Amino acid sequence: MCIFCDIAEGKIPSKKVYEDDLVLAFDDINPIAPVHTLIIPKKHFDDVIDLSTNDDGTYLKACMETIGKVASAKNIESGFRVINNCREDGGQTVMHVHFHVIGGVKLTEKML
Ligand code: AMP
Ligand code: ZN
Repeated sequence: MCIFCDIAEGKIPSKKVYEDDLVLAFDDINPIAPVHTLIIPKKHFDDVIDLSTNDDGTYLKACMETIGKVASAKNIESGFRVINNCREDGGQTVMHVHFHVIGGVKLTEKML
């Protein structure tokens, strides 16, 4: 059982930002900024290594293309940050690959 697969299948409700056959973008339940949206492939991949190794590029490309769609939908084209936490040491807590899109405010506290 995977909570993001359940969200992708509509078994668990989410605040959808964008959806097509390959991806879903929905608002994070615990936002750290005015805009905090998650992009997931509808097919299960554990993490970004799984996605970049075991996908032929279809889902990876769809996820990346969704970034701009989220930015447009959320009116944050002046700038934002995309974050992927990978595996335990990267702080990943949900083991279905996802990309955080964070913005809606001038982002400080840069890590690099
Ligand atoms: P990560 O720590 O990178 O694995 O991020 C997991 C994210 O999923 C966290 O920011 C959580 O707030 C978010 N999250 C967990 N459950 C839900 C849910 N049911 N709906 C929306 N976001 C969720
Ligand atoms: Zn999943």
